[in-house]
Amino acid sequence: MFIDSHCHLASHRFSKDEVPGLIARALAAGIDRMVTLATCLDDVPANLEIATRPAVHACIGIHPCDVHHAPDDAPEQLAAFVADPRVCAIGETGLDYYHPAPEGWADENFRERQRDFLERHFQLAAKVGLNVVIHTRDAAGRESFEDALEIYRRHHSSVRAVFHCFAGSWEEASRVIDLGGLVSFGGVLTFKNAQAIRDTLLRCPAGTFMLETDSPYLAPEPHRGQRNEPAFVRHVAEKAATLRGESPDELARHTNEAAEHFFRFRPKSI
Ligand SMILES: [Zn+2]
Repeated sequence: MFIDSHCHLASHRFSKDEVPGLIARALAAGIDRMVTLATCLDDVPANLEIATRPAVHACIGIHPCDVHHAPDDAPEQLAAFVADPRVCAIGETGLDYYHPAPEGWADENFRERQRDFLERHFQLAAKVGLNVVIHTRDAAGRESFEDALEIYRRHHSSVRAVFHCFAGSWEEASRVIDLGGLVSFGGVLTFKNAQAIRDTLLRCPAGTFMLETDSPYLAPEPHRGQRNEPAFVRHVAEKAATLRGESPDELARHTNEAAEHFFRFRPKSI
């Protein structure tokens, strides 16, 4: 019934043996599709392997917190995988100004490399006709969001972007939507102190947003603080439906449609 548009099933926090159980629990909870995202070149094969299952699709990208480990041509190396029907978008890419730069890196150089990688993820996406999944995070202010939006603006005529785990205002969401992009909401929506995010959700028209877990991170209530998993997108969905005064069916219909438009899931004959 629902789609988890953003999870990390190849995360080290899930052992390989647990993955079939995670997927089975999600299916039992009415989550019929999951999108698992790679965060570096090394975990692309593991994500593709998991996406061999009918309910799972994969995205391939270099997470902004991993750009210092990645070879300079990592975004171009992703091109080797895009023809694979298990791949449904480019990501997770983006800008993370929250975490301090790694040892040996000045903040400004680390951020510049993230912006360069984001730009090149867009170039690849435009070339191969896929969309882009973006992470932004700031310790204070909205600089990573503004910088990522600026890069998206240069590509929005050929590529769509989703700003995942969206935590901004309606004014910020509307700037993404005006460029043809989407936002997605996860477990934070259920947190007590997240009224501002709930206000944004209420103003997002149907078709402009998706649901996600970002598992293993950011578990929704009533699992807050535990390891997250795709089955829990149901709690995000129930909260969102209640807030918006929609039935779960109605919410599923338009969020699934938004996800299907964005990811254009390909049939997998593997
Ligand atoms: Zn993520």
